Amino acid sequence: MREESLRKHAGSLYACRPFGHKPSCSSGYLSCSFACPVTGGRVTQEKRPRQQKLVGRSSLGRWPAMSWKEALIGRALASDAGYEFLRYQCEEIGPRMAGTAAEIRARDWICQQLQGMDYQVTLEPFAYPQWVPGEVGLEVLTPVRRRIPCLPLGWAGPGEATSSMVSAGYGLRSDFGAASVARQIVLVKNGAPAGQRAIHRSEKYALAQSGGAAALVLMREHPLGVVGIGSVGLSGQLGCIPAVSVSFEDGSFLARCLERGPVTATVKMASASRPGTSWNLRATLPGAALAHEKVVICAHYDSWYICPGAHDNANGVAVMLDLARILRGFPGARSFEFLALGVEELGLFGSYHHAAAHRDELASVAGVLNLDSLCCYQGDKLLLCNGHPALAEFSRRLLSDLLPDVNVNTRINCYSDHFPFFLQGVPAMHFLAWGRDFYSAYNHTAYDTLDKVTPHNIREATLWAGLVAMELAQRPDLPFGHLTPDEVKRAIDAQELRSGLELAGRYPQ
Ligand SMILES: [Zn+2]
Repeated sequence: MREESLRKHAGSLYACRPFGHKPSCSSGYLSCSFACPVTGGRVTQEKRPRQQKLVGRSSLGRWPAMSWKEALIGRALASDAGYEFLRYQCEEIGPRMAGTAAEIRARDWICQQLQGMDYQVTLEPFAYPQWVPGEVGLEVLTPVRRRIPCLPLGWAGPGEATSSMVSAGYGLRSDFGAASVARQIVLVKNGAPAGQRAIHRSEKYALAQSGGAAALVLMREHPLGVVGIGSVGLSGQLGCIPAVSVSFEDGSFLARCLERGPVTATVKMASASRPGTSWNLRATLPGAALAHEKVVICAHYDSWYICPGAHDNANGVAVMLDLARILRGFPGARSFEFLALGVEELGLFGSYHHAAAHRDELASVAGVLNLDSLCCYQGDKLLLCNGHPALAEFSRRLLSDLLPDVNVNTRINCYSDHFPFFLQGVPAMHFLAWGRDFYSAYNHTAYDTLDKVTPHNIREATLWAGLVAMELAQRPDLPFGHLTPDEVKRAIDAQELRSGLELAGRYPQ
């Protein structure tokens, strides 16, 4: 964020001073000193003018007369709470896979945090199909015998295949068209060639399966020796063939062997499904004049079983909780609903359940802010407005001054929790920090750790999401509405997402 913007909007409340300057204020209603996101120096609070009118009271104490925007900037950028919320999930709870004891610990901890802020929390249980990984193995038999470290990919079917191997590039439709994969073990790369639309691993798996492949081996794009994980199915049903993930280095070894001649290998995988129960957590901050309408701020609290998930998605939960804390001090015209969602990683089960179970409430939702993987030390800040040009224009205008580096666009992401809301026409935003290097190296690995997110990343994201949330809650006449079912379909078709959604059985009827 630019220093001038910070100064302009914070007015006389803050001034940037070199590190070491003694705080001039001891009022205690806001933190007195924090690291300036621009200069790295200390920002200290100016003395509160005498006779200043006090206009509100919150869990943070009294606050002086200022616009909500100024107050939000101060509170978001001064907060240490968000980073502590992040740290606790990553390092005290650890990986939070659906169906594990850690998922329950995360659920209870979020509940306690919200209750500690005086929210009433509703726990909404829902049934979902749980995926249970088992033993997995990949062994090259010829031209050399070698065991390759690998992980099972979510929802791939159990089985054992011993066969020759074939490479199918990035696993695009054109790659499968060029390679004959029937009864072969298919090696594909994660991601897509530079400049091309990235296709989800579930599309690669579906193409391998429909081409009659015996098994799929997915290699990462980035050289770090790290093995990642993820779902290759989204419908909650086990696939027909095994699928495993390998590191870039081991995948490259396999590719080199294939360039030199025939390769045979064995892939083994145990994998099962059983009925599971998870929970969504809801807490409401009532609005005033338009209290019957609401702004939903959601984040999923599960992660993969190997993955501390600092980026995906402890940071989303941390920002949501800090917003729940900060916004409690602001009167909003519309209500806020904070929604911690379960079981995103296995196929968006928490958000699909919520959108279906509360369908009658969706007409009153002004917008959904999905906080999923929005803080990272590296990458661009994206605000995906999911096929809604008027929503994108509204957000762009709102952020252009304070956060001009946010890339606001109308791209649709089908693979995170705003998507079930988008399918119902609700204006849906996905807040995302995306860097190709970060994603291809660490996403869904054991190294998505606390060190990948800085305290400043969390503070800036809290401000970013808070600005959008407050504007949505305050503005009486919003310059956009819900999408019609036809507009939803047209947006999906225009972005060439139809075939992938049809393969996953998720194209709207
Ligand atoms: Zn996520």
